[in-house]
Amino acid sequence: MSRVVIVTGGSRGIGAATAVLAAERGYGVCVNYRKNKEAAEKVVRTIEALGRRAIAVQADVAEEGEVAELFRAAESFGTIVGLVNNAGILEKQMRVESVDAARLERILRTNVIGSFLCAREAVRRMSTKRGGQGGAIVNVSSAASRWGSPGEYVDYAAAKGAIDTFTVGLAQEVADEGIRVNAVRPGIIDTEIHAAGGEPRRVERLKSKIPMQRGGRPEEVARAILFLLSDEASFTTGAFIDVSGGK
Ligand code: NAP
Repeated sequence: MSRVVIVTGGSRGIGAATAVLAAERGYGVCVNYRKNKEAAEKVVRTIEALGRRAIAVQADVAEEGEVAELFRAAESFGTIVGLVNNAGILEKQMRVESVDAARLERILRTNVIGSFLCAREAVRRMSTKRGGQGGAIVNVSSAASRWGSPGEYVDYAAAKGAIDTFTVGLAQEVADEGIRVNAVRPGIIDTEIHAAGGEPRRVERLKSKIPMQRGGRPEEVARAILFLLSDEASFTTGAFIDVSGGK
């Protein structure tokens, strides 16, 4: 059976770069996406062109039933040894005084509940206490959990703060069950997520505030994720790698 990594939100941005790098490192890859089938299939074709295996699986990570289906599809593809909890959203830049409950629910459902549900399914399959072979989970948090993102999206930053706490807690909960749980905290990375916040050129505006004077590339985050997934990080759990150019 091939060793499979599930990358949630693997169709674009950091997730797509992670999916391709995971394939290059020898994993079979389950490329999850929510809406953009074409982008997910393009990632699959890129991986197949490398002579590796991948499948695209549609599932909204915020929906419990769809997460269960995602894991069933991945399981039929090979042994799940890794989960990258990458799917994440933000919404239009806004001060807290303008935010409503519906927006908070959307932000928390995908960014927090989605990560919990996927991790739960992974633990059920990987835990040596449940007959599994162990594995690694990497949560994609954000430097926003340290910055708070005032005036832009405090809701999103707070959701990522929850992911940081989740990483520490779950890591300790399953540390003696063969599962490592870590997180990366990207800074400002050049992807389409900024357009969703209403500012496609956000990286350009903010790059002078980053000590390295530039935004990051998705591939630079992917390399940190692949390190944490790999046996190179065999004694590392409950840890964070900031991929943020010094900010
Ligand atoms: P992106 O370019 O907007 O891509 C987001 C990906 O997540 C897409 O593949 C999208 O799939 C998927 N997705 C969104 N909601 C989903 C859901 N409910 N279920 C399944 N898939 C879903 O974003 P990105 O910049 O690569 O961000 C990836 C992760 O890095 C996120 O967790 C984000 O918070 C984090 N991050 C990004 C930055 C940055 O500056 N870019 C900084 C820090 C942290 P579809 O296209 O099919 O809908």
